Amino acid sequence: MPRLQVVRDPSLDDPVATLPGVSDKTEAKLGRLGIATIRDLLLFFPRRYEDFSTITPIAFVRPGVKTTVRGRIYEIGAHQTKYKRMALTEAVLGDDSGTTLRVVWFNQPWLVKSLQKGDEIFVAGEADLNGGLVMKNPDHEKVSLRPTNVARLVPVYRETEGLTSKWLRPKIQAVLRLADQLDEFLPSELLTRRELMGRAEAVRQVHYPASAARLDRAKERLAFEEMFVLQVAAQMAKRARQVRSAPVVPFDEPTARGFVAALPFKLTNAQRVAAWQILQDLARPMPMNRLLEGDVGSGKTVVAAMAMHHAAHAGFQSVLLAPTEILARQHADVIQSILGPFQIDVGLLVGSTPAAARRPMLASLAEGQLPVLVGTHALIEEGVQFKDLALSVVDEQHRFGVGQRLAVRQKTERTPHFLSMTATPIPRTLGLTLFGDLDISILDEMPPGRRPVKTGLVPPEKRADAYTFIRKQVEAGRQVFVICPLIQESDKLGVRSATQELEKLQRDVFPELASRIALLHGRLKSAEKESVMAAFKRGDVAILVSTSVVEVGIDIPNATVMMIEGADRFGLAQLHQFRGRVGRGSEESWCLLFTDAEDPQSLKRLQAVVTNKSGFDLAEIDLNLRGWGDLAGYRQHGKDFKMANLLDVALISDAQSEAVRLLERDPTLAGELGLRLQLSAYRQVFALD
Ligand code: ADP
Ligand code: MG
Repeated sequence: MPRLQVVRDPSLDDPVATLPGVSDKTEAKLGRLGIATIRDLLLFFPRRYEDFSTITPIAFVRPGVKTTVRGRIYEIGAHQTKYKRMALTEAVLGDDSGTTLRVVWFNQPWLVKSLQKGDEIFVAGEADLNGGLVMKNPDHEKVSLRPTNVARLVPVYRETEGLTSKWLRPKIQAVLRLADQLDEFLPSELLTRRELMGRAEAVRQVHYPASAARLDRAKERLAFEEMFVLQVAAQMAKRARQVRSAPVVPFDEPTARGFVAALPFKLTNAQRVAAWQILQDLARPMPMNRLLEGDVGSGKTVVAAMAMHHAAHAGFQSVLLAPTEILARQHADVIQSILGPFQIDVGLLVGSTPAAARRPMLASLAEGQLPVLVGTHALIEEGVQFKDLALSVVDEQHRFGVGQRLAVRQKTERTPHFLSMTATPIPRTLGLTLFGDLDISILDEMPPGRRPVKTGLVPPEKRADAYTFIRKQVEAGRQVFVICPLIQESDKLGVRSATQELEKLQRDVFPELASRIALLHGRLKSAEKESVMAAFKRGDVAILVSTSVVEVGIDIPNATVMMIEGADRFGLAQLHQFRGRVGRGSEESWCLLFTDAEDPQSLKRLQAVVTNKSGFDLAEIDLNLRGWGDLAGYRQHGKDFKMANLLDVALISDAQSEAVRLLERDPTLAGELGLRLQLSAYRQVFALD
């Protein structure tokens, strides 16, 4: 008696290699697309679609127009061409319209085995006039009830070397039935009320839409779910924050006036508004969570110093964290010079602070005698004990301004107010989206007297002129940044690209300056980085070759040229940030963008940097052109957004109000296990634990 064999349906968590037709080699290629499991494959959504859905009778096929034809094979055969000895497969198709169409495939000799006279097939492509209509190398497929490659809206996927959409289509189509295993994590009440498509159906439709209308509904659902999960996470973080209590730093007008009067300059309007917003927040018993955004040079430090001054005046402590030792020193100097006149002491705690100096400092922090501490991030997160910390400020390290709440300890139970400062221009709508739990102050105004940095796109034939120009600048005593892109994926830290650039400059371009050209890349130890930066700051180094992975956020007023290689490889906001590294002194400054790109799209993007001086505008242009993943650093925190458009204000506000509504009904999401699991992607971003 034959044994009954139980065939288990594959599970979504099975590796893709368990699917028929997926070899180890292919598995590796799929890995490059981020696909490891069947679930990943199912959730690998098309980038776009080819519309092969309309079938044209052969009699109506016109040359030069993309067309799908359904016809029967009247004849088929293969032969070699005389001259180049190419394999040609030729077929003649006919249909009810009474005409025939010649179809030719090059170098696919195996087609004669899979296609036979009498078969009915779809072909999709463009026909030429060549002694009658001929369609060359069309996509083709045998007629069936479920066509994959033609005769429908055909999905086009992101491809990688050796892995085409054509290969992916049948593989994905074969697992679509497993979509039913996907968890429907949207609350059912919401699903019905908003009439959203179910998750499994949406996933099936997004790959193989039954119609354009169904596709729209599927995308709508998938975009909503992404935005909704984000908003639920943000609202939960907000609720958690609102129940914590913070030190109250009362607003005191004479104190504020006294601070402003002692400054050597007048605050800009933007600085005044931002400072006002921050001081209002400090006066509330709930922890502030605010992002202070402003271009490089917009004057964020003094705004932070004003808040620290207020806190100190009320008897509280403040801390400022910087990403590197050099920046920490720079901040400590600046803040000391601003707060010194008020008899407010500023301590500096960095890796090289000797133990003998460290011990008394830690003691006076714990005793509450030292009102302001500046230090490197790593050091302070290790846990410095404060007596009564009211304000922590983080400069430029956590680009999101959220998450990783400082692990500072203090003797009271109160949560300090939190201010993060960034020069990454985050478009307002995006700020609203991503930071549902964050308030934002924007310095959109520069202190007076700044000269704009002259920006130019340098075509390859002008490279020599640019070097001559740079040489003259160095001879005049100025300094130069050279930024190199990451060229190979394997060169993650940019060691190779920057090293090659250094060698080229030292050997071929500026041999006479070789000893004054230095290198900065991600493989250097932090002490080495610090020493290179210090040499640049002293002026010993004239040309600093650096990769983008290294923060060069340091004030070098004498640097007048920012030269960027492979500029097309960077996000516009990032280019703008590099540009902000020059133009800090009294001399005229230049930003030179080098590119080998010739496509109009890249040149148009770069042209936007030439003409546009606003980081916000550039970030928004980039977001529209290339999607959000290219904005500096975003991807490293959040998850990837596949469907939701982060500039879609209506989507954001719908998702936000649904999130608020759900949490009012079910604050701990006790009834929403599936949704809780989805939130895990945001745990770190929003510090939900
Ligand atoms: P960033 O926003 O890049 O951190 P900084 O705080 O370092 O900018 O300020 C850049 C420079 O501008 C500093 O030298 C600072 O003293 C100066 N500055 C700040 N605000 C003003 C102002 N309102 N008027 C003139 N100079 C200012
Ligand atoms: Mg700064």
